[in-house]
Amino acid sequence: MHPAQLTLYNSLTRSLEPFAPLDSEKGVRVYSCGPTVYNYAHLGNLRAYVFTDTLSRVLTWKGFPLTHVINITDVGHLTSDADAGDDKMEAAARAQAKSIWDVAAHYTAAFKANIADLNIRQPSRWSVATDHIGEMIDFAKKIAPDHCYELDTGLYFDSTTVPDYGKLAGSQDDTREGRIEAVEGKRHPQDFAIWRKSPPGEQRQMEWDSPWGKGAPGWHLECSVMSLKYLGAPFDIHTGGIDHREIHHPNEIAQNQAFCGCSDTGAHFWMHNNFLVDRQGKMSKSKGGFTTLQSLIDAGVHPLAYRLLCLQAHYRSELEFSAENLAAALTRLKRLVGLVDQLRQSAPAMTDWLSEQLEKAEWATIGQALQSDTQRLPDEYAAFDRALSDDLNTPLALSIFEAAIRDRTLSEPQRLEFAIRCDAALGLNLLSLTREELRVRPANAILTPEEISDRLVERQQARVVKDFQRSDTIRDELAAAGVEVMDGDPLGWDWKPVL
Ligand code: AMP
Ligand code: ZN
Repeated sequence: MHPAQLTLYNSLTRSLEPFAPLDSEKGVRVYSCGPTVYNYAHLGNLRAYVFTDTLSRVLTWKGFPLTHVINITDVGHLTSDADAGDDKMEAAARAQAKSIWDVAAHYTAAFKANIADLNIRQPSRWSVATDHIGEMIDFAKKIAPDHCYELDTGLYFDSTTVPDYGKLAGSQDDTREGRIEAVEGKRHPQDFAIWRKSPPGEQRQMEWDSPWGKGAPGWHLECSVMSLKYLGAPFDIHTGGIDHREIHHPNEIAQNQAFCGCSDTGAHFWMHNNFLVDRQGKMSKSKGGFTTLQSLIDAGVHPLAYRLLCLQAHYRSELEFSAENLAAALTRLKRLVGLVDQLRQSAPAMTDWLSEQLEKAEWATIGQALQSDTQRLPDEYAAFDRALSDDLNTPLALSIFEAAIRDRTLSEPQRLEFAIRCDAALGLNLLSLTREELRVRPANAILTPEEISDRLVERQQARVVKDFQRSDTIRDELAAAGVEVMDGDPLGWDWKPVL
């Protein structure tokens, strides 16, 4: 079986392009714009990292060595993309009466916990913006003479000094968000800050000396500097949410072009995930009132149900978040876990053998069955590969996956191996998740699962001796404690919470 050619959508050309690493010895180099750590990530932000994780898993699954960098923005991101307003970190620290460093440490840790809960693999490197201020100043010094001008408020990039400024954004409409001339004296509305001087008489928590006075770097600078430092230029893939296609990434590209003195954008592919939306409108981290992953966990929903919800949509499509969609994803996940569980029980020797292989093997070799050793794997494996290779078509890959593990014309060991190998790309943890873990269990539940089981055993005993009154009483008592008894549930659960 021949592995399918990986094709990815490049926002730069607005088209699907065959992908191959620029330098096969270095492998694939990916940079993902990371979170701004002034608040918790909302579910929409996390969609961006489920997407980058899917990309990175598929790359490794297909046998490419990978270096993946995600940055942590702890300085420079303003409350408006138009170089106006406050630094988001300064504003949060003031509001919470904490130091910026404490704010950053708290939300960085919370973000990393979200990443772990979603089974998102750790990148090769987390790079923190404030660890790179010296390098940002050096970068700015190099591009300043030919590309920047100084105002009282800071050092600004003249967007007309590079070829095709804003090509990535597509439309050159100056009315878009962030295209408003918010800073007096800017030569062109789309010019942006490279360095923001601290206002006279105002002391900021985060400020550094520079040739342009005390101040802080502009937000876009960090990504140019850190991607260049850790990945070299040009590298293979730069990712971010679709909002970054409009301002942040065009500005990074302009800086990269100024730095190299050429028209290279800095990356071969620029890829963007579409938004997760809710009926109330765009999820907004800065306005607050959004849904966090922790709030789903506290409501008793397993976080991997959210991962599955994301995989059910193509990353370039908008995805609507709702309690119903999430509940449907959870039910689907239960079914998948149930099916894999049955396969594991019917092919225990296979499970042990595979687990051993997986422990011994380099992670990348899991997907390399594509190149070798495919006799045991069904045709669906090639179809699954084709789906993922077609710009990460996870909704199609999932339905191929589901059909194959249900397909009784395939042997159980065959289906189990298929499931294990495919899950390395899907990241749903299907081999280790248990049905028990998927049961909705709110953090504020009154009864423990053991207490519920005991009550259910009592109820069963009452039914055996046909004491239906007692059995009904127990059912009612459980209902009062928020537990609905589920006689004959097709998924095999004997209770669920009353929601
Ligand atoms: P931030 O922490 O605001 O810098 O955003 C982190 C990542 O989340 C960026 O790649 C954003 O483009 C992305 N993002 C923001 N809102 C959403 C959303 N509603 N859906 C998907 N991605 C988003
Ligand atoms: Zn960035």
